[in-house]
Amino acid sequence: MVADLHLHSYFSDGTYSPEEVVGHARWHQIEAVALTDHDTVEGCERMAQACRQSGLDFVPGTELTSELEGYELHLLGYGLDTRHPRLARELAKFQSVRQNRIREMVARLNELNVPLEPEAVFRLANCRSPGRPHVARALVQAGFCANLDEAFERFLKRHRPAWVPKAKMSAAQAIQLVHEAGGSAVMAHPGLNRIDRLIPDLVAVGLDGIECFHSKHSPATTQHYLALAQRFDLLITGGSDCHGLSKGQPLIGGVRLPAPYYDRFKAHRAAVATKHALPRSKSDPPGGTP
Ligand code: AMP
Ligand code: ZN
Ligand code: FE
Ligand code: FE
Repeated sequence: MVADLHLHSYFSDGTYSPEEVVGHARWHQIEAVALTDHDTVEGCERMAQACRQSGLDFVPGTELTSELEGYELHLLGYGLDTRHPRLARELAKFQSVRQNRIREMVARLNELNVPLEPEAVFRLANCRSPGRPHVARALVQAGFCANLDEAFERFLKRHRPAWVPKAKMSAAQAIQLVHEAGGSAVMAHPGLNRIDRLIPDLVAVGLDGIECFHSKHSPATTQHYLALAQRFDLLITGGSDCHGLSKGQPLIGGVRLPAPYYDRFKAHRAAVATKHALPRSKSDPPGGTP
């Protein structure tokens, strides 16, 4: 099966509903998809349902914002139990960090004589995991910026006047959380970070894979990370990182994880699920804690 394992919906900063994401995947003849919204798994249930109806393979996921030696590292969690109690608690914490950060960014904009209201951002975002793209869209919608690029360039980019850093969990904590929820942890778009020297440290704390195929990876970058994945015996994943229309053109269909890699990913997940089934069935009754 040809797969796209990196997709966002309107449950974070994408613009499509989970059903629309599935519709676009079908149009592009993608046979397996993962939903990887930032710091949330809320869209997974609806996406699973849409995939069942359309005959697509579905992998529940999330993209955790973590930190390693001062770098922002995005960690993809795949195949998680989306109702895992500690996962839910941790995600709720980082969602509230995101919401407070929106208020702070808006306050800075107000100081810069941009009278945007936080409610305008929250209304537009309409999700628990809002981010800078929502602020950018609100700025464009209210006519303060001509387009999203201008919003980031003038205000929202790192070290620009309305940029507010975000409290993050450490990469090791993120990997551990993914594992605790029964998932596999994959380093997202390593070509955007270029912190290859830290990969051995991540492997030491349990990193399962790296995202070799990504919209922003050149063919040479993909080859580079394929070789690294082989060297460290890591899982190879890939996806478009499509955000719908929130960053210009929808990227879905542009990057696909070739079928043999998806087969290996599935085999790995099946092995993890078997290993996980025993201890979890003892400690966690079906349905989990309320
Ligand atoms: P946040 O999680 O709130 O820090 O927002 C991160 C999101 O903003 C990611 O999806 C980025 O791809 C997006 N982003 C960062 N810089 C830019 C930019 N210059 N133009 C458009 N989107 C950006
Ligand atoms: Zn995003
Ligand atoms: Fe990312
Ligand atoms: Fe992403």
